Amino acid sequence: MSSDGELYLIAAPSGAGKTSLMKGLLARCPRLALSVSDTTRPARTGEVDGEQYHFVDRATFEAGIAAGDYLEHAEVFGNYYGTRRDRVKALWAEGKDVLLEIDVQGAAQVRADFPGLCSIFILPPSMAELAARLNKRGSDSAEVIQRRLSEARREIEACIDFRWMVINDRFETALAELEAIVTAWRLRRARQQARVEKLLDEAAKRSTMSD
Ligand code: 5GP
Repeated sequence: MSSDGELYLIAAPSGAGKTSLMKGLLARCPRLALSVSDTTRPARTGEVDGEQYHFVDRATFEAGIAAGDYLEHAEVFGNYYGTRRDRVKALWAEGKDVLLEIDVQGAAQVRADFPGLCSIFILPPSMAELAARLNKRGSDSAEVIQRRLSEARREIEACIDFRWMVINDRFETALAELEAIVTAWRLRRARQQARVEKLLDEAAKRSTMSD
């Protein structure tokens, strides 16, 4: 899949505060759009189909895998999660830069396809704080929370493959750092090459005129 636009990816252990940070980031960066994933996990209270996720059954998801519809997919805590290629392409076609919020297994698949990926890992300030946030969320059973905590260690180890890292200690600071990464990424020379070429064209014309 060729890249028509920018692709940003944010991963974090669950409870690191990724969802609120992403909401804040999307509000501050209007050109950035979230690709809403498919999942087979049941909707949590308050979740709306098509907003946080597209909730699909296993048979539908597996048919999508077989058809090659997913840019990446993974099984996380016994449920499938995946990014549909057509959703990413549709956002690029609208002129948006696309943001993916996915786990580290999916991140590895996307990285292999998009060397120009802007990958960001969000870390919690401490494991104690991570456990406190998962408990406070109140949406998962004690068993699920325990599983998420043991998974967190494996996920944190994977942060070595990410380009940028943000520690979510103070929300406002972490959000400002995320915004700074997006701004810096847009300013890289490789992305601005067209401007350089335009300037050089102009310079060439001016020198022909003065000859
Ligand atoms: P949750 O069930 O708490 O919403 O998400 C569980 C995990 O699945 C999180 O780490 C989240 O980032 C990950 N996830 C959500 N959507 C996708 C996706 O499309 N692909 C992959 N690989 N992981 C996803």
